[in-house]
Amino acid sequence: MTYLLIHFITMACWFGPSQINTKSLDAYWEITKKIKSGELVTEQDWETLLASDGYRLYIKNNGIDVSTVNIFKEKLTAACLLEENDSLSALYKKDRWVQQLARTISLQSETTEHVDKLQTMSYLDSMKVLAYKYLPVRLIQFEYQDPTIYFLVFDYDGSANIDGIFMNPLLSFDLDQPKIGAFAAHELHHFIMDQYSKNQHQSHIDSTDRGAIWAIKNVANEGIANMVDKKYVLSEASNYQDKEWYLEKLKVAPKSVEEINSSLEKLSSFADSKLYGAGYWQGVILGNGHFPGYFMACAIEDAGFHEELKQTVDNPFQFFFLYNKAARSAGNKYPVFSDQAISLLRDFEKKYFVK
Ligand SMILES: [Zn+2]
Repeated sequence: MTYLLIHFITMACWFGPSQINTKSLDAYWEITKKIKSGELVTEQDWETLLASDGYRLYIKNNGIDVSTVNIFKEKLTAACLLEENDSLSALYKKDRWVQQLARTISLQSETTEHVDKLQTMSYLDSMKVLAYKYLPVRLIQFEYQDPTIYFLVFDYDGSANIDGIFMNPLLSFDLDQPKIGAFAAHELHHFIMDQYSKNQHQSHIDSTDRGAIWAIKNVANEGIANMVDKKYVLSEASNYQDKEWYLEKLKVAPKSVEEINSSLEKLSSFADSKLYGAGYWQGVILGNGHFPGYFMACAIEDAGFHEELKQTVDNPFQFFFLYNKAARSAGNKYPVFSDQAISLLRDFEKKYFVK
C-alpha cells in the first residue's frame, strides 16, 4: 500500500498536472458505442456529450448555433452506421463531414493511443519550442497561464481562444506524424497573442475602417501562425487530409494580395459603404487570411527577414510594410502594395496602433 502510494506520488510529480482534457473525447466514444450497438440514444445522452468541457466551450466560443449542432448529431449517427448500411453509405459518400467522422470512428484505437501518448509526454513544452520560434523576446517573456488543451470531435480543425486550445484528435493524429505538436503550436501562438492583447489598450475603430482592420489583423495573425506549423503540415510526411486543397488555395494567394491592394486603394479614394464591413473583406482575404498571410510571411522569410517578422506579431501594419520591403527586393516575384495602399496603412497605424 505504502509502495503504491509513493509510486503514485512519484508518477504525479513526473508527469505534472495534466494540461490535456479528454472529457469530451471520452463522452464521444461513449455515445458512438451506443449508436453502433443499436441502443436508443436519448436527448439526455446528447446533452451529456455537449455539456462536457470541450464541447461546451467550443460551441460557445465559435458561436455554433443549435441547427449546426443538430446537423452534427445527425451526421455522427450516420457515420456510426455507415459500415453496415449500404444505402446510408451511398447517401453520404461525398459528405466530407460524415466521412471525416466515420474515419475518426474507424481509427478509434490509433487516435486513442495517440492522445494517451500525448498525456504522458511534455506535449505543451514541444508546442512552446515551435511557437517561440516565431515570437519576439518580449512575448516569450510575457507570463501567461498555460492553456488547457481540449480534445473533441466536431469538425476536422483546431482553434484557440481565451479558454484554451481545442483540437480534433484525428487531425492531431494526422498532423503530429511529421512533427509532434506542430499544429497545436499554431494554436498556442493564437492563444498567447489573445492573452497578450487582452492586456493591451484597444483603440476605438471608426465604422468605415472596421472591415479593413479586421482583414489586416487576420492576414498578419494567420500569416505568422502558419509559419509555425505549415512547413510540417504540408510536408510529404504529413497525413493532413486537406493537403491538396490547401496547396491549391495557396496558388491563388498572390491574386488575393493584389485584391487587398486594390481594395485598400478604393477605400482611400472614395466613400463606398460596401468596403466598410468584414463581409466584403472576407471575400478578399482567402480562408480568413490564411492563404495571403502565409504567402506574405513566406516572402518575408525568403528575403531573410526572420527576426524582423517576429517583431511584427503585435503590429499587423508592420507585417504589411515588411512584406512590401521583401517583395520589392525580390524583383517581380511577388505583387507589391502601391504607395496609395501603403499610405492608408500608415494612416491606420497612426490612428489605431498604440505603443
Ligand atoms: Zn490560425
